[in-house]
Parts: sequence; C-alpha cells; structure tokens
Amino acid sequence: MNCIVCNSDKKTRLFKNTEDYEYGTYRNVNFSECQKCNLIFQDPLPPKEIIGSFYPENYRNYISDNGSLFSVLKKLQFKTLAKKILSKVNNNDKYIKILDVGFGNGELLLALKEKGYKNLYGTDFSNKNFERLKKKEINIELSDVEECLPFKEEFDAIIMNHVIEHFLDPVRVLKNCLERLKTNGKLILLTPNTNALEYSIFKKYWAGLHIPRHTFIFNDKNIKQLGETLGFRMIKICAVSDPGQWSISLQNVLQSFSFSKVNLKNGMAWYSVPVSAVFIPITLLQSIIGKSTSIMCIFSKN
Ligand SMILES: [Zn+2]
Repeated sequence: MNCIVCNSDKKTRLFKNTEDYEYGTYRNVNFSECQKCNLIFQDPLPPKEIIGSFYPENYRNYISDNGSLFSVLKKLQFKTLAKKILSKVNNNDKYIKILDVGFGNGELLLALKEKGYKNLYGTDFSNKNFERLKKKEINIELSDVEECLPFKEEFDAIIMNHVIEHFLDPVRVLKNCLERLKTNGKLILLTPNTNALEYSIFKKYWAGLHIPRHTFIFNDKNIKQLGETLGFRMIKICAVSDPGQWSISLQNVLQSFSFSKVNLKNGMAWYSVPVSAVFIPITLLQSIIGKSTSIMCIFSKN
C-alpha cells in the first residue's frame, strides 16, 4: 500500500503485535511509518467487517453525562471546545449549519445548542445517544461516512473531533466533507499528534495509537499536506492539550505487567483522573514548544 498522504511506498515497521490494553479487544496490530511524510498507520489495515467489534458497550467516548467525575470533566472540556471551534468559524450567526461527524456522546452538539445555535446536525455509526439529541431538536442520522454523508444540506462548518484517525479510508471521508461544505465553509479536525512529547516517551504504549481503533495517525505537516492535496485551503493548525493522553499512556504501561494490572471501568483505571490532573501543566508546556498531545486543523473550502 502506498502512503495515502504522499504516495510513497517507502515505509518502516514501527511496532509489531501491539495489544489493546484499554478494552482487551482480541485484535493485535502492527504499525508502520511512511519514511517520507511520517504518517503512522496500521499495516495491514483491519478488514471492515470487524471494525464494529473494536467498540464495546463500555467504550468511554459514548458515555453520556452519568454524574461521574469523568463525565463532568468531559462536559466541561466539550464546552471549552465548542467555544474554541466557534471562534475559528468566526460567525455569530446562530442559524449557520454545523455538522458533527462521529459525535460520540453528543456533548459537543449539546454545548453548541446551549450557545444558541439552531441548525445542528450529527451523524455516527452507532445510535447510542440518538434519543437524547433528538429531544434537543438536533438532526441526527446513522451513517457510514466512508460511503457518503447522510444529509443533503450544504454546511458552514463540519467538525470531526478525534474521528479522522479511526477510518479505513480517511481520504474518502475528507472528499465527502469537501463536497458537502459551502464555499468558504470550514472543516475542523481534531486528531492526535505523532509529534507529541508523550509519543516519544511511551512509543507503542502511547494513548494516541488507541489500539486497534486508530488506523491513520497524523502530525501537523502531513495532515496539512493531505488537506491541501484534496483541495482544501489550510487556515490554521493549533495545539490542543489533552492530559488524558498521559494518564492513558501510563495506564497502558502499567496494564501490560501482571503486578500492576487493575480492573478498568470504561477503559480507565481508578487513578486516571488524578493522574491527568497532575499532567495539565506539562501538556500546556507541550503546546508552547510545538509538541502538543493533539492538534486542531482548520481547513476552508475555496
Ligand atoms: Zn507519506
């Protein structure tokens, strides 16, 4: 397989037979890295028919507000993210059409709703949180966005919050998004960053690999190259701090040894939240030195 970003056929094997320490799904995977653009990818890619099995019932990104400390903190994080995204869309018109692809627990859409935005759309391949969002008059459809987006509308903004790294064919998904954006519409992608400081420390235990769920993992340069190759205009890339990347990476190391292994709830150990708090200053520092845990890319359609 040639690289989906730069078309190079030169790759280096990074990791072999890596395990899912978060949910214990059965599939061990190998990762390679493109020698030219440093894209990291599963090699070989998993067959499409088993992808659904990577997302068990207790997958934490589908957990809605259940009163736990984790869900309260997540809700807060989504409110901050909504504010950040709206500042990039640069539009006070509450009637703009915004689509969240792969909305997961729906908290980002709900945060946008709370800010008064009226035309909100969401799609996901799981219908776990559909009823909750429909009650708030958010337009929801089940879909496989690798085939096509389920709405006929043209959007002012399409958001993918930690979603693009999950697809078997991210190029097709980005093309589908481009098709459904208005002229000057914005595509906002958040994704882990392979230039992140903690990746260089944790390697195959890095939370950004999220084995076996992440298929293609980008950095600021190769995501820009991919977007521009497909016809987007790059507006900006910003650093995103996610201290959870540190706690889950550390957890992956501890879960790999029998003496430090504990029972996980929703893929997380009891110590995850306090450990995340400890790493907040470090993630902020990472953002300053250009080695942030994640990146937010803002593309525009010409
Ligand atoms: Zn490449």
